[in-house]
Amino acid sequence: EPHVAKFVYDFTEGNKDLKDLLGGKGANLAEMTNLGLPVPPGFTITTEACKVYLDSGEEPAALRDEVSAHLDALEARMSKKLGQADNPLLVSVRSGAKFSMPGMMDTVLNIGLSDKSVKGLAEQAGDERFAWDSYRRLIQMFGKTVLGVEGDLFEEALDAAKAAKKVTVDTELEAADLKKLVTKFKRIVKTEAGRDFPQDPREQMDLAIHAVFDSWNTDRAKLYRRQERIPHDLGTAVNVCSMVFGNLGPDSGTGVAFTRDPASGHQGVYGDYLQNAQGEDVVAGIRNTVPLAELEQIDKKSYDQLMQIMETLENHYKDLCDIEFTIERGQLWMLQTRVGKRTAGAAFRIATQLVDQGLIDETEALQRVTGAQLAQLMFPKFDEEAKVEQVGRGIAASPGAAVGKAVFDSYTAVKWSRSGEKVILVRRETNPDDLDGMIAAEGILTSRGGKTSHAAVVARGMGKTCVCGAEELEVDTKRRRMTVSGGHVVEEGDLISIDGSSGKVYLGEVPVVPSPVVEYFEGRMHAGANDADELVEAVHRIMAFADRKRRLRVRANADNAEDALRARRFGAQGIGLCRTEHMFLGDRRELVERLILADTDAEREESLKELLPLQKQDFVELFSAMDGLPVTVRLLDPPLHEFLPDITELSVRVALAESRKDPHENELRLLQAVHRLHEQNPMLGLRGVRLGLVIPGLFTMQVRAIAEAAAERKNAKGDPRAEIMIPLVGTVQELEIVREEADQVIAEVEAATGTQLKLAIGTMIELPRAALTAGQIAEAAEFFSFGTNDLTQTVWGFSRDDVEASFFTAYLEKGIFGVSPFETIDKDGVGSLVRSAVTAGRETRPDLKLGVCGEHGGDPESVHFFHEVGLDYVSCSPFRIPVARLEAGRAAT
Ligand code: PEP
Ligand code: MG
Repeated sequence: EPHVAKFVYDFTEGNKDLKDLLGGKGANLAEMTNLGLPVPPGFTITTEACKVYLDSGEEPAALRDEVSAHLDALEARMSKKLGQADNPLLVSVRSGAKFSMPGMMDTVLNIGLSDKSVKGLAEQAGDERFAWDSYRRLIQMFGKTVLGVEGDLFEEALDAAKAAKKVTVDTELEAADLKKLVTKFKRIVKTEAGRDFPQDPREQMDLAIHAVFDSWNTDRAKLYRRQERIPHDLGTAVNVCSMVFGNLGPDSGTGVAFTRDPASGHQGVYGDYLQNAQGEDVVAGIRNTVPLAELEQIDKKSYDQLMQIMETLENHYKDLCDIEFTIERGQLWMLQTRVGKRTAGAAFRIATQLVDQGLIDETEALQRVTGAQLAQLMFPKFDEEAKVEQVGRGIAASPGAAVGKAVFDSYTAVKWSRSGEKVILVRRETNPDDLDGMIAAEGILTSRGGKTSHAAVVARGMGKTCVCGAEELEVDTKRRRMTVSGGHVVEEGDLISIDGSSGKVYLGEVPVVPSPVVEYFEGRMHAGANDADELVEAVHRIMAFADRKRRLRVRANADNAEDALRARRFGAQGIGLCRTEHMFLGDRRELVERLILADTDAEREESLKELLPLQKQDFVELFSAMDGLPVTVRLLDPPLHEFLPDITELSVRVALAESRKDPHENELRLLQAVHRLHEQNPMLGLRGVRLGLVIPGLFTMQVRAIAEAAAERKNAKGDPRAEIMIPLVGTVQELEIVREEADQVIAEVEAATGTQLKLAIGTMIELPRAALTAGQIAEAAEFFSFGTNDLTQTVWGFSRDDVEASFFTAYLEKGIFGVSPFETIDKDGVGSLVRSAVTAGRETRPDLKLGVCGEHGGDPESVHFFHEVGLDYVSCSPFRIPVARLEAGRAAT
């Protein structure tokens, strides 16, 4: 049988699972219709029809007849005809994509009104004023959204009509005034659009449908989709729905409701109601709404019915729903429902409440929360009790609560922070020159730019609080001040507070309270009775669900006992990456300097001998903190020059000394070494395993320190589980050489200490060649840990230290990627190398242990990918561990 495309679905034909085809609104209208709820009859034109229209510029050939057939059926059911002079059917034409894009796309109400049918409507409703008001609304909305007339022109005409009559609110205009306004509006359409307002109702409807299709591709819709990572090729559905009116008198009205509180999750009556009004009046805030509970006094019958429906919807969707409804002369109509948005805290609470109510199970509960929400709950917050003076609001670009002195340039930010001041860097917008200042600041505030602006992207990358695009702020960098809303002037040095989770900007220092969720993970808070504890209780239970479900283990990237202990409290099951270079800084730098400068073997051995006990002590501490859990110690990785002084500074010092005729022998040698080790491209230079191969004794010293530390712990009845990891391997030969030396050292230590250490030796896979030859490398490695930071850097050829601050903003704006590949794993490129290396590695060595320790190990989407390719564990920074645990659980459901 040939496939016949079906482009139109009556509300009775769809259901909630058809969101791809019918959009969210259409699918849920159908679902409610089929639940027997009072939905005004109508039909939905599919996203497929939209796609054909957008691709070809024309609607699909079959669409017109299908619409006609559905319209006929609708007219028959309503016993009215669209736009019929004496008894008109009116419809709304509303957009509705798969994902909600609030306010982005178009809607036209009251389609079907014309010079003739407006009189029929007046008669039908027994209300002339109402009819003419509906007509003027149609021309206004149609003129603006369908014919592209500047909306202000209508607003100005409306204001003029009110001024002429010396009234202030729309409702004081009478039928005669509105009649005149309609004439005026029609004239505006004629002049501006170069055509008459269409009197043919079907033409109105068809044009409105096309306008909704077109609104998918407006600039603001595209921008919104890029920011929200909604694919551009989904298209929108169009809902044609018979009109019901909330503005037919005091027994009519319109409202919104939630089946439970979207802020706390508590069950109850939440919502707003506006008597004698249509939906857009609520949004426009023309009159004040009343709390939904008051509807009980206004219209008990409708109120009771609404409560009943809300219960039906919650039990049916098994989730918090939000609802739009209208009451037309005492008759309740449902105009929309969907699973409602909620705060991060409410998401956790609602998920556990629904489990307790027996509506969902643990697995489903895990789908109701996200790692991103958990991360949000872990940021410190401003004290809600605190007295605050809000002076602006921008886009919540990077969460957190930051307090500091306002500074208006990067130089001052750096200077002040060096002297111990906390600063907020305030700029109109940032550019790569501001990077130092951004690093130095507690938070970043800009008056321009959106979620993908430079400030936002870079701040998120740094995990720094950022509010951007706070347009009310007038930033004057020259005079080092800004004018905030209310006219107050903030001078350089004045204290301000910014909330990166809400976008709010405050004057002065708002006190910060630690997150109760972090207090809980730290073991400083337990379940109890107040509100914060209710949240903690919910998080506690959801984490238990996740831990029961997940297959991936979660380890921490930690280099010292303090971080290791925190990681353990947060649920880490080991250390996946201890970067030993962090142990070579501070007072030990001089020792390392001597090692690098050594001219003779004896000198070099001398400095290695001094480093050995220090390194050993580091590992003893780490292994005790992580007793019983695996600790992967990575041998030295970064280019040596990172341990040497800055070349320019040193040159100046040497030059000064020479001019004083007092050349310092050591400094001269140092300068020569710095020159010798200087590399144009150090990230691709002498680092990682290459260091171990060219600096005799370096890696063996580290291996000895690990082995001796493990032996010491063992002899003290501890349970050390060290693993030795070789960085930046590109070929198995490198690994074999290092391995042979390491095995020998370990054997020596075992013999000397009388222990059996069982130290596994493995490698990082962080170069494309390593991934491509993973089968060979696995011959010499007991485990792989994917270093997706370097792997991303080398696969893309993107310098990980530079690109995010330089051209990524442009790349994000152009939609080349929706998120930095350093943040979320690039599945197609980097990810496919990971996937094939996993397969090849396991082919060689079936019990090869596999993990990842790049930043991606703590990124929700990436965690799902690592689960899917079959890694054994992810390793991430201590604070990300709960997020990784949760996402690993979610991935396994
Ligand atoms: C990596 O490259 O992903 C990695 C974990 O190592 P580092 O970040 O220390 O280079
Ligand atoms: Mg690396």
